[in-house]
Amino acid sequence: MIVCKFGGTSVGDADAIARTAAIISARVDRQPVVVVSALGGATNQLIQIAEQAAKGQLIGALRAVEGLRDRHIVETHRLLGNDAQAEDVASELSAMFDELASLAEALTTLGDLTPRSLDAISSLGEQASSVLVVAAFAKHGLPATHVDAREVMITDSQYTRAEPQADAIAEAAHRIVMPLMRAGRIPVMGGFIGAALGTGVTTTLGRGGSDYSASLVGAALQAEVIEIWTDVDGMLTADPRVVPDARLIHRIGFEEASELASFGAKVLHPNTIAPAVMKGIPVCVLNSRRPEGTGTLITFAAPRRSVTAIAGKSGVTLLRVRSPRMLLTEGFLRRMFDVFERHRTSVDVVATSEVSVSVTIDDATNLEALVIDLRALGDVTMERNRGIVSIVGNGLSDGGTSMSRALAAIGDLRVHMLSLSSSGINLTVVVDGQQVHPVMQRLHAAFFSAGAEAT
Ligand code: ADP
Ligand code: ASP
Ligand code: MG
Repeated sequence: MIVCKFGGTSVGDADAIARTAAIISARVDRQPVVVVSALGGATNQLIQIAEQAAKGQLIGALRAVEGLRDRHIVETHRLLGNDAQAEDVASELSAMFDELASLAEALTTLGDLTPRSLDAISSLGEQASSVLVVAAFAKHGLPATHVDAREVMITDSQYTRAEPQADAIAEAAHRIVMPLMRAGRIPVMGGFIGAALGTGVTTTLGRGGSDYSASLVGAALQAEVIEIWTDVDGMLTADPRVVPDARLIHRIGFEEASELASFGAKVLHPNTIAPAVMKGIPVCVLNSRRPEGTGTLITFAAPRRSVTAIAGKSGVTLLRVRSPRMLLTEGFLRRMFDVFERHRTSVDVVATSEVSVSVTIDDATNLEALVIDLRALGDVTMERNRGIVSIVGNGLSDGGTSMSRALAAIGDLRVHMLSLSSSGINLTVVVDGQQVHPVMQRLHAAFFSAGAEAT
């Protein structure tokens, strides 16, 4: 069997959903399980609705609910026509938006948005899209059956970034998804959403988490391949929105792909690779607008290259802890990283000197409490609006000149911190947030422009 995950643009409207149906039709023999995102942009709108409602702006929130309802109903009729079956689907979707409107009203009354209620709302995008896609597949003659992701994707109860429980997911996938496949059905479920073990309350895996859902299901069912269908030809040498002449990477190693995803290549959720690696399942990234393309194949084996791709992200916070007396004392770093663990904040880049430790973090949700606890260890300074740019290549450390070329390309742009990962495949620089794009462009030109290879 294979897992096919379709992102927001691949299910963004009736035409895109029809293309998705054609892609699955060509794969029926391979026993596909389908994972879908919300209609493109729907999750952002749902989160805005929740925030607006909690701020007391109910009229605006309800207007946005109606906008989303209309969009789903219009696409339903474009896909299914106007017969009784289409009306059934339209009323099922409409009931979801009634629920959304009630949730928005309740939030206005409460005036407070908890992570749990945010998940109740942001999960509605995948709840709706999966129902719509099942009906569209059936209309295209595919034997699709809806699977409520909350019965399979069992997580802990850390709302908005729930941790999947692999054993419970494997058990549920074998109990619920496998029999459908054996009966010749095509199971279709929403990505991103899950339910807390024990309570069954709706959770989500974090933004962009549908890729992760797909790899978790693939690992649970020992898929032959996990296909991630998106709006670009595969993983490219840089984000094409930043570097328009970025090139397709035909093959890449799991480790490199994972580094790129963690350091800003949004095309894959950073957690996607781990379940695939554990079960040795290849991941393929493909373009749903150009299904004839070969995409990017992510496996253990990959060509050795000094630089495979460049990734970057802004909105990063740089924290420096200075503690001249204590830094080299036993247990200091452990105590410091305990603080990050306690506040569930992961660190991207670390550099140490004799008197200070500098780290970058991406998720500033718990920043204030984190800094208070860090102050117990030394003087803390915080620099917001930083960015990181990473050069990733499994042969980066092969004695070549990549490092000097990278620094020469960055030129006069200010570097706040620099780190070569212990695996030697990732060189990361911390720069001002607004310099992320120029640094990516300069590095890409240095390593990938015509003639760059020869230097
Ligand atoms: P989906 O909705 O299909 O999950 P995303 O928007 O999450 O799609 O991811 C696809 C986008 O990722 C692309 O449109 C592209 O702008 C961005 N991206 C960032 N880095 C890369 C990269 N190295 N290769 C390809 N796409 C990238
Ligand atoms: N719809 C979710 C999001 O926008 C999950 C995903 O698309 O992967 O974050
Ligand atoms: Mg995505």
